Amino acid sequence: MQTEIVAAELESSVSRAVELLDAGQVVALPTETVYGLAADALNPEAVARIFEAKERPRFDPLIIHLPEQKALDQVSEPETNIVPQLTQAFWPGPLTIVLRKREAIPDIVTGGLETVAVRMSANPIFAKIVGNLGRPIAAPSANRFGQISPTRASHVLDELGGRIPLILDGGPTQHGIESTIVRIVNGSIEILRRGPITAERLADFAPIIKRKSTAILAPGQLPSHYAPRAKLVLVDALESFSALSGKRVGALSFRGSTASDRYWTTARLSERGDLREAAANLFQRLRELDRQNPDLIVAELVPEEGIGVAINERLRRAAG
Ligand code: AMP
Ligand code: MG
Repeated sequence: MQTEIVAAELESSVSRAVELLDAGQVVALPTETVYGLAADALNPEAVARIFEAKERPRFDPLIIHLPEQKALDQVSEPETNIVPQLTQAFWPGPLTIVLRKREAIPDIVTGGLETVAVRMSANPIFAKIVGNLGRPIAAPSANRFGQISPTRASHVLDELGGRIPLILDGGPTQHGIESTIVRIVNGSIEILRRGPITAERLADFAPIIKRKSTAILAPGQLPSHYAPRAKLVLVDALESFSALSGKRVGALSFRGSTASDRYWTTARLSERGDLREAAANLFQRLRELDRQNPDLIVAELVPEEGIGVAINERLRRAAG
């Protein structure tokens, strides 16, 4: 794929970015913190492309950016009055707030968590693009997995050139460090990641809980990470598992299986064997299986390539 870099301030660049996002593609955009790799947050396959491009070996929860303040009610449940006070004071700006998510947000955005991290960018170009799209944008930093966050368009090109269609060059980013992330715990503000909005400024709104470690909250350590209630075992192929007679065994297959009649119920990740589609469906299918209360779920590993690595990581974690 040819990656184009265009000047962010041009009207034509903004409309191309919106068209690509609307079509389910990913584009790199400047924010006031670092460059973000953006996709339509309500389109699970578009979000899967973020993980593919970044070669993330797991589905870390992503931050979503709102088109306007009042969209907050569409993505998250209303909570304490501290939240409206914080958004009043700091949005648009580099403050991310973790809130209980609404159904509309796909699981692939939140890594299966019941919460979603939300912000509203103060970068005028980003704001215009998300406003024109009219839907929230999911956007982690536009670097490959394990690399440092890009603060210039050239960094994005070095990292993701050839993997994404478009980079909007808005010059060096204003802050150059990632947003502050907070959540509200019993009327206090817990800082999950330090950033441009400091504890001192947040303390005007509620008592501050400082985490012992300043390390970024690793998604694997998040307490409420989704795992099915049913016991889950992994196999290389569903055909090789001899279903236990009398047991209600649910099967999760990659592209469908000739052995499906041996199982009590089956769910399929992608009929055409497309790993991106499989990633987009993974959490939903697992939930559907789990909701039927099987005695056991048998899941087939997918090819360990591209985004399949993240799918298998998730399955292994769910299997414990
Ligand atoms: P990035 O967008 O690449 O700067 O990183 C996103 C950060 O947000 C990661 O450190 C995530 O762990 C954190 N994050 C995203 N969603 C949530 C959530 N629901 N709860 C806690 N942390 C989150
Ligand atoms: Mg990052």
